[in-house]
Amino acid sequence: MSDFAEYKYDGSQKVELSKVKTNDTGSYKTKEEAADKLKANIDIMIAEQGKLFAQGQCSLLLIFQAMDAAGKDGAISHVMSGLNPQGTDVYSFKQPSAEELSHDYLWRVNKCLPQRGKIGIFNRSYYEEVLVVRVHNLIQSQRLSQRYKEDIWDKRYRQIREYERYLYENGVLPIKFFLHISKDEQKKRLLDRIEDKAKNWKFNEADIKEREYWDDYQKYYEETINNTATPHAPWYVIPSDKKWFTRLAISQVIVKTMTGLDLKYPEISEQQAAVLEKYRKVLSE
Ligand code: ATP
Ligand code: MG
Repeated sequence: MSDFAEYKYDGSQKVELSKVKTNDTGSYKTKEEAADKLKANIDIMIAEQGKLFAQGQCSLLLIFQAMDAAGKDGAISHVMSGLNPQGTDVYSFKQPSAEELSHDYLWRVNKCLPQRGKIGIFNRSYYEEVLVVRVHNLIQSQRLSQRYKEDIWDKRYRQIREYERYLYENGVLPIKFFLHISKDEQKKRLLDRIEDKAKNWKFNEADIKEREYWDDYQKYYEETINNTATPHAPWYVIPSDKKWFTRLAISQVIVKTMTGLDLKYPEISEQQAAVLEKYRKVLSE
């Protein structure tokens, strides 16, 4: 249970979402128990981010996908709390604009990729192109010639696999999270947004409409994960009925990935060391 490896999909095994428990909390029983571990993980992330930034050679791309109210926003803000904001970029992908729709679907994504040394966070992503676009058949409104629409979903899975390989080989490391909640838990959270005045602003009629397509979304999420999970761009299916566990599991995955990169502060040359020594003397006079 130490590295939360059971939630990882790298293409070596298929996921069946209906068999993955949404309320799993691993070996943790309470929020309090998990709090210390989360805090320790955040401290490690802060230390690793310092080295990632100083090295400036590769970047992390954390992708969050989920059904509405699964806790993407909360997870992003809690897990990333304490990180240096200058080394972090968050982008939320909404319905594409007219300008975006007049380009290929990765056009708007490329502009948001993290620079070397940074942690990029995508709140939704190009994965919407094989999820919401498929559920609602939005491909019809995309200005794509009919001849490219044959086997469009298989083509897009391949394009995404190839794109992520390209990113990885260029030092942008994709880590993809699917926050897995039950339909019942979503109902509770949507009701809460109606009943709790402080949460009223979060209520969105569209979420109720999307809920009717629950089964389609689950089916396409499963197909998407199984077609795009690779060793260099793995998916993590995170049980998300308990928010405190979601956050802990995400932090653990990030810590595990970052420490696995063996990041180090750049070492300086003898020449640079001599320059430092010179100025140490100047400042000490
Ligand atoms: P929250 O509801 O927690 O604020 P959200 O990510 O659901 O966060 P919304 O503004 O409610 O944000 O919704 C954004 C919508 O944009 C989603 O319904 C998503 O499916 C849609 N979307 C994102 N990318 C695309 C895309 N490429 N094509 C069509 N729709 C998209
Ligand atoms: Mg929404």
